Amino acid sequence: MKIAIASGKGGTGKTTVAVNLALSLQDVQLFDCDVEEPNCNLFLKKELEQLTEVTSTIPEIVEENCTYCKKCSDFCRFNAIATLPNKILTFPALCHSCGGCMIVCPEGAIRKQEIVIGTIRKTSAKEKDGPELYEGSLDIGQTMASPVISELKKNIDPGRTAIIDAPPGTACPVLTTLEDVDYCILVTEPTPFGLHDLELAVQVVRILDIPHGVLINRSGSGDERVEEYCMDEGIEVLMKIPQDTKIAQLYSKGIPFAQEMDQWKEKFAQLYVSIKGRYSRETEA
Ligand code: SF4
Ligand code: SF4
Repeated sequence: MKIAIASGKGGTGKTTVAVNLALSLQDVQLFDCDVEEPNCNLFLKKELEQLTEVTSTIPEIVEENCTYCKKCSDFCRFNAIATLPNKILTFPALCHSCGGCMIVCPEGAIRKQEIVIGTIRKTSAKEKDGPELYEGSLDIGQTMASPVISELKKNIDPGRTAIIDAPPGTACPVLTTLEDVDYCILVTEPTPFGLHDLELAVQVVRILDIPHGVLINRSGSGDERVEEYCMDEGIEVLMKIPQDTKIAQLYSKGIPFAQEMDQWKEKFAQLYVSIKGRYSRETEA
């Protein structure tokens, strides 16, 4: 079963939930899809080894063949090519590797160039205990997170449980992360900002038709509007993690609280069992 942990904005505790849930289960893979800032391993502190580099195909201009006809730059809706009267510029960070400019160029003046945009790592074979962590990271200066996430997700073993830490927000990298997941836990906090971003995240999972529930982090620190919203919308509140001094202290030291507080390990294990039960009933129905 593939369970994504997502949130409409950063800083809600999404990664904390992903790590603690993964630590509370047996034989689990944990995927850090927040490739612009992967930080599951700040908590797990595993030795990682490189699995593969992720590449992207961008255009390389053969300027001596170019007639500056502008067909390529007119075609590119991502503004990754600009044609000047006697100069052509490319902006690799904007390129979506669609290949269209190479097709429309009448002079054969554009060829393919492979560039490295990111890296996939996993826990070293020496690491025998705990979740098997897979981490994607986007190289500095690169902007195309989705190809790195897609490559990372190829490592999901369908026979095992996968916990997937999604990037924050509701943009393309989140959609790539949520594609094909079985269930999504939406993490939020009981504040007006938390509610606003939760509403956006709910719209996304509803459009993608992904079963979902809400986990309220730092419960007790704000107001009741998130819970009222969930009740009005018929969304289950799966768990509340209170504003708790010990949890905060452990967090500040980079220690997952389920590792030190057995009652939370039990709660996260129960959370998984209830999600899995609900998913099984829905897929059998
Ligand atoms: S490959 Fe596609 S996105 Fe990239 S520059 Fe060419 S047309 Fe634009
Ligand atoms: S389409 Fe080809 S020939 Fe025309 S400006 Fe682009 S690279 Fe040059």
